[in-house]
Amino acid sequence: MRMTFNWKDNDIRMPQFMKARIEEIAKTMNPDMMASGYKSKGSQYDVRPYQSTHNVGGAIMGADRKTSTLNKYLQSWNCHNLFVMDASAYPQNTQYNPTGALGRLGLLVGGGNPQGLPPQPAAAGVNGEANR
Ligand SMILES: Cc1cc2nc3c(=O)[nH]c(=O)nc-3n(C[C@H](O)[C@H](O)[C@H](O)COP(=O)(O)OP(=O)(O)OC[C@H]3O[C@@H](n4cnc5c(N)ncnc54)[C@H](O)[C@@H]3O)c2cc1C
Repeated sequence: MRMTFNWKDNDIRMPQFMKARIEEIAKTMNPDMMASGYKSKGSQYDVRPYQSTHNVGGAIMGADRKTSTLNKYLQSWNCHNLFVMDASAYPQNTQYNPTGALGRLGLLVGGGNPQGLPPQPAAAGVNGEANR
């Protein structure tokens, strides 16, 4: 099996941001010992040490049909009655728990959306251009 997966810049920038905030807080507690482990720039995904069982993506959601598979209601841009309600919709995730937010995304589609049913995205034309 060939797996093509690696961290993107933003996957690294998010934990680096968290690292700075968390270390700041931890230092104010004046601990006897302090250690932290965060991915740094240039980190590569590695199947040998445990890194994450939170691999996501594949049919990502987004605002632009040219760069994403699903709209923000997890609805396929090109096939209106197809909803992909799982973690393949995530455009990014380094390693942290994805499932809570996934439940919320499901609610967007299944009745929890205060605006009602998702609007229909414009159908794609032959060249991928919107018909309306
Ligand atoms: C060991 C482990 C620990 C984890 N711990 C946490 C945690 O603590 N917190 C957290 O937030 N997340 C955790 N996760 C991640 C979490 O389990 C996933 O992110 C989440 O389950 C993804 O949900 P999903 O609906 O996208 O996919 P899944 O839950 O994988 O659901 C996909 C479903 O599709 C079914 N399926 C597949 N192919 C077909 C087919 N051809 N036809 C019909 N059905 C099919 C599968 O049987 C499965 O039921 C953990 C994952 C693992 C592996």
